[in-house]
Amino acid sequence: MEIITSLPEFLKLRNSLTGNVGLVPTMGALHQGHLALVETAQKENDTIIATIFVNPLQFGANEDLDSYPRDLENDSKKLESAGADYVFVPTPDMMYPAGYQTYVEVGEITDRLEGRSRPGHFKGVTTVVAKLFNIIRPHRAYFGQKDAQQIAVIRRMVHDLNFQIDIIPVPTVRESDGLAMSSRNQYLNQSERTAASVINKSLKQAIIGYNNGIRNPEQLRQIIAQTIEAEPLAKLEYVSIADASTLIELDEVIDSPMLASLTVRIGKARLLDNCLLPVELNTLVGLKDSLGYIS
Ligand code: AMP
Repeated sequence: MEIITSLPEFLKLRNSLTGNVGLVPTMGALHQGHLALVETAQKENDTIIATIFVNPLQFGANEDLDSYPRDLENDSKKLESAGADYVFVPTPDMMYPAGYQTYVEVGEITDRLEGRSRPGHFKGVTTVVAKLFNIIRPHRAYFGQKDAQQIAVIRRMVHDLNFQIDIIPVPTVRESDGLAMSSRNQYLNQSERTAASVINKSLKQAIIGYNNGIRNPEQLRQIIAQTIEAEPLAKLEYVSIADASTLIELDEVIDSPMLASLTVRIGKARLLDNCLLPVELNTLVGLKDSLGYIS
């Protein structure tokens, strides 16, 4: 595997590649969740390109941009063993040189859920992803279902801007107690880490409720909220039961799939998780159909 840190060098390399290219964009501090994206991509493409870039544009003023974990040496070893061929590691100056003034902004789907808590976050995400799409020119790009709204927003952008790229969702990889793997889990001390399993537990309670016939969105939200509130170290930021294709918050029962999602603060970490209801959809890469905008 080759590590490329220069944009001209990367573009030269890209021009020499033939066959299908799969892209795995990351911010580094890699764990098995990221590697699952690489492993999935590896089965479906001739060349796998991962990127590591802690994108300043998607962090708010009071967020963890400076403290976000960075470990290129270990990340490179992990990417290589998962089957990546190249890792492109640009710097902020390379991506946003002096005079930079162009942004990609998706509409109302970015105002919901995470967008409401993190204004400007998705503008940062779509801008950097659009730039990476233009630089890397992948045939397929792989994203984790853990960030379900991110997938929906990127699909919307791909559809609206006519990118000829397939967006492939990959199911969330979890620790043995169900906690979704996240680079931000590193912020947790031991007792906080134990407490964090409540996040997945709350979704499991919602799934049990759903499987027992509960369809009322408010009742499902309450099941999740009450489970989180029972854990003293966890502070619920929001819980949502939304239409899985539009992410519009639901007041009434619908027949189509719902996305249950929540964000919880534990210690210094802000952690999110989600699942689709019915739950069978979570294991299907055919999640494509429920989140719409298939290119
Ligand atoms: P990040 O480095 O946090 O920006 O994540 C890079 C990509 O990895 C995104 O598409 C995430 O959704 C995905 N990802 C992060 N954690 C997981 C996980 N536990 N399982 C599957 N994908 C993940």
